[in-house]
Amino acid sequence: MYQHVDQSWRTQPPFMSRATVSLLANRLRQHARDIGASELAVVAHGGEPLLYPDLDYFFGTLRDNAGDVTLRFAVQTNGTLIDDRVIQTLAKYSVHVGVSLDGPREVNDVARRTHGGEGSFDSVIRGIGRLRHQEPGLLDSALQVINHRQEPASAVRFLEDLGFSRADFLLPDWNHDSISMSQLEPGTLGSWLIEAFDYWAARSSPVYIRTFLVIARLLLGDEEGTDNFGPEAVGTLIIETDGSYQIHDALKTAYQGAGHTGMTLASHPVHDVDKLPLARAFQLKISGVGRQCRECSLFPVCGGGSPVHRYKAGVGFSMPSAYCVDLQMLISHIARRLLELPAITGGVRDRLLSYAAQMPAVDVGKDARQVSLRMIHVV
Ligand code: SF4
Repeated sequence: MYQHVDQSWRTQPPFMSRATVSLLANRLRQHARDIGASELAVVAHGGEPLLYPDLDYFFGTLRDNAGDVTLRFAVQTNGTLIDDRVIQTLAKYSVHVGVSLDGPREVNDVARRTHGGEGSFDSVIRGIGRLRHQEPGLLDSALQVINHRQEPASAVRFLEDLGFSRADFLLPDWNHDSISMSQLEPGTLGSWLIEAFDYWAARSSPVYIRTFLVIARLLLGDEEGTDNFGPEAVGTLIIETDGSYQIHDALKTAYQGAGHTGMTLASHPVHDVDKLPLARAFQLKISGVGRQCRECSLFPVCGGGSPVHRYKAGVGFSMPSAYCVDLQMLISHIARRLLELPAITGGVRDRLLSYAAQMPAVDVGKDARQVSLRMIHVV
């Protein structure tokens, strides 16, 4: 996040103050009441959430002020700071741990280095191992941004070997203005994901990979998606360290202030953010996509992908995804694989056949990108 277009973190305090944590606790309780929820999920991420000077105070204040609302806590960490003291605090509040990983040592240590200049891989593995040994129930999931230079099968095996039961492969946060810097050809990540899917689908006890399972579920007729797939998502709200509300942290890749709402914990209840058009575009996707996505037969599964990937300066978020070709390839491939199952018959089979027919040619070439252009987080 620190290297993206939006540099507003420079004016944010490094940590949420105690006064802001108290305000947050009150707003959470109020929000649960406003929407009639008995449970809310709170994910602390960053930066690096385990750098917070007093995690016990943070989670304790939220829990102690929650009234009869159950708060489900999680942290999304790079894993380097998981030590016995941290584990004790996480266990005290049942904080589930998601780890952001780049991949095996040779991949991880290229970009993630300690202040001393050494690769961080060993400390990440040590932290994960310690957590798995002491509090296995808290080790929740791994997120890995796809590095297409890593062999797909080894990426799947790497996640399995670390003992994660849940994981996800994420498309890098490029949009139409920035994707040329990635040097990715249209279809490169689609091919990568297809190879990973086929390897994963043949495993005897595979790790739960969210993207694959969400697409399969949507192909079979479900409507509840994620930020990245499907026509509807729960939606995500980011609360910055100064108490301001942001719509989605990945919007920092679009332009300065893209996710800003002008609202804060002090000024507005959480519920008010839901009414903003960009927040709606993350929840009810049809409200944010352009004509090409609206008319696309894959929309019920794709949902136009992440709004973040649809951004283009001067146009906004109504373009098809910068990964349109890749998404078409993956979705239609999974539809084809599901059709191989004998239990798939009748209307579901007909629907899958129509999705499977959308498979674009893999060798799409450079112009195809143009042709085909048709929870609460605390940081
Ligand atoms: S046009 Fe592309 S991005 Fe839009 S819904 Fe269809 S496959 Fe997805």
